[in-house]
Amino acid sequence: IKMSYNYDDNNIFAKILRGEIPNKTVLETDYSLAFEDISPAAPVHILVIPKGPYVSHDHFAIEASNEEFLDYTRAIGEVCKITGVQPSSGGSGFRSIANAGQDAIQEVPHFHTHIIGGRNLGRMISPT
Ligand code: AMP
Repeated sequence: IKMSYNYDDNNIFAKILRGEIPNKTVLETDYSLAFEDISPAAPVHILVIPKGPYVSHDHFAIEASNEEFLDYTRAIGEVCKITGVQPSSGGSGFRSIANAGQDAIQEVPHFHTHIIGGRNLGRMISPT
């Protein structure tokens, strides 16, 4: 079956982008926004989102413009720098996670990458 991506304008990150609900912004660029997760899983827990209406990482990877793609990737790099997690400058590392769809238990249907760090995060995937 072929299904197209269906972006829901009422998701909570769309509301954040429209300024309808507040957020703790860490970085804003032309095409991206990074803000603190409201329910942090670790001392560092930032969400990086594109401003465009993309549902998931695969949607973004396929349909984003070169400008959006470049901006987003650089924004993630900048967030790692701002939060000090990157190993190259003395940080103790981080994990980047992008959940998509039901198996990954994606809760907000606007593409976001979690940048999580500041403590030992254990192994990548928990046993089921
Ligand atoms: P996911 O399960 O990957 O879709 O993750 C959604 C994330 O969004 C969770 O970590 C939530 O804590 C976070 N979240 C939900 N609402 C907000 C909000 N208003 N501001 C910041 N983060 C939020």
